[in-house]
Amino acid sequence: MPFTIRENIPLRDLTTFRIGGPARFFCEVYTEGDLIEAVSFAQKKCAGRFFVLGGGSNVLVSDAGFGGLVICMKIKGIIFSDENSWKNGITTVGAGEEWDSFVKKTIEDGYGGLENLSLIPGTVGAAPVQNIGAYGTEVAAAIFSVRAYDTETGTWKLFKKDECEFKYRDSFFKKTKNSSGQARYIITEVSFTLSKGAKPNISYKDIHDYFEKKGTTEPSLVQVREAVISIRKVKLPDIAVVGTAGSFFKNPIIKVEDFEALKKRYPDLPGFSEKTNPGFIKVPLAWIIDTICGYRGISQGNVGTYKNQALVLVNNGNATFLDVTIFASEITAKVKEMTGIDIEPEVQFLV
Ligand code: NAP
Repeated sequence: MPFTIRENIPLRDLTTFRIGGPARFFCEVYTEGDLIEAVSFAQKKCAGRFFVLGGGSNVLVSDAGFGGLVICMKIKGIIFSDENSWKNGITTVGAGEEWDSFVKKTIEDGYGGLENLSLIPGTVGAAPVQNIGAYGTEVAAAIFSVRAYDTETGTWKLFKKDECEFKYRDSFFKKTKNSSGQARYIITEVSFTLSKGAKPNISYKDIHDYFEKKGTTEPSLVQVREAVISIRKVKLPDIAVVGTAGSFFKNPIIKVEDFEALKKRYPDLPGFSEKTNPGFIKVPLAWIIDTICGYRGISQGNVGTYKNQALVLVNNGNATFLDVTIFASEITAKVKEMTGIDIEPEVQFLV
């Protein structure tokens, strides 16, 4: 497909929130050559302003749209390390492949490691940026390397896993900007190490309870995928029906002493410590928004919190960027008032 730049393209239906105005310039990139052309265009015509759009599942676009170039990532392909088998257990995937189709394929082929990450919307290229995670598994655990274009120097770099600086829903790619203030690295390929015969991780409460109810002690990868899909369908809205970007805020990670002080006021407050982050506790924000603030399943005009998961904001039909940001600010202020915790959006704002 020839590389083309188009103008004034509506972004609303390219995002799962289904909110926002047009992109001043827009292109789809199918090859690494297209990507180089796209970045060069943004540098010449838009003062370097670009935004890489994958599945549009974690973005809120402003009502006025975006004045730069939106680069829609379409680089496809799943390349096995050996033509006939996954000999070394490493497979390289184009950033524009749909995440869940890839996960489904690994499971069908008998490879474990990604089954708990079933049904997460978005693309393969976005997975390392956010270090997507669910049900006790983070994508970082399965990543071998990441190939990315450096928009600062116009060169290519292969990041080994250790260089990706993966943390809870965070990575080197998420925080590293170029001199125009845009994401410095654009991911084009991700390589994974997956293994046959690895035992699925079913320790997370929801999955454990699911199999306990069924009396299954050693579920297959297919069964774990089915469990995750079933649990997610109950708790999270169907993005084909409801406009949403999933979890709108990040779960706060607070000091142990602040957590203990809060526990005195709210004895049932859950909290999880992480070996890699001693002295800090991750607190489920959905619990705070629901139980302490009373905001689960409420609507304010066009925007609301989802009935089964208070961390998820939903577009009730015609929500605008302004509706969402006003509602989100109200929740942020309420959480601060009730707990003293400063919360931050997980969703990226495109303004
Ligand atoms: P949940 O099971 O109700 O748990 C709420 C929060 O408590 C989550 O943040 C979870 O941390 C934490 N938690 C629960 N059990 C834990 C344990 N044994 N150890 C450490 N932390 C624990 O969560 P939910 O809303 O139904 O979501 C289910 C899973 O899907 C979660 O893992 C959630 O993070 C994930 N999810 C991910 C995304 C994303 O990547 N953007 C979006 C939506 C949901 P964790 O977040 O570390 O699990």
